Amino acid sequence: MTVRKVLQIGHPILAARANEVPIENIPTPEVQGWVDDLIDTMRDANGAGIAANQIGIPHRLFVIEVGNNPRYPYKPKVPLTVVINPTVRFLTEETFVSNEGCLSVPQMRGNVDRHVEIEVSYYDRDGQQQTHEIRGYSACTWQHEYDHLDGILFPHRVTDAQSFCSWDVFQEFQQEAYASHVKALVAKWGA
Ligand code: ZN
Repeated sequence: MTVRKVLQIGHPILAARANEVPIENIPTPEVQGWVDDLIDTMRDANGAGIAANQIGIPHRLFVIEVGNNPRYPYKPKVPLTVVINPTVRFLTEETFVSNEGCLSVPQMRGNVDRHVEIEVSYYDRDGQQQTHEIRGYSACTWQHEYDHLDGILFPHRVTDAQSFCSWDVFQEFQQEAYASHVKALVAKWGA
């Protein structure tokens, strides 16, 4: 198990567009090791997802997993998903005001607009091509991680600068209302 250091906003590797993983390299110990380190680091930090460039690997892959997450108690569960060389397509114009945090942006949260119906295509860790439609709140998590691969962090997308707040302030003043806002979305889409 290798828990790696998470780079913080402003680091040049986080700010750059990450490179495609050559498909033939997916089975190699190097790429499989990256996947294992991503999973270990995400779980250690109670993240809902983590992108490779957050741990200093400048390539296009990320992992997502949501169980009983103390950082995000209102998030619907998502099984462990390994995502290599993804593309994301918006299926509709409908968006949701998503309040987000990030392991690379310590202590801060803020509101961004995310699409609620997307189609994702990617390779899994076995090198199999996958295409899925993702609807509801989990679509926000996918877009957050996908943005990392293009050097975009949630503060770059914040729509209302007044929505920036600390995690403590969010929990004290906003989390209850936000959980209801999420619950309505999850009730509509079942995820
Ligand atoms: Zn992030």
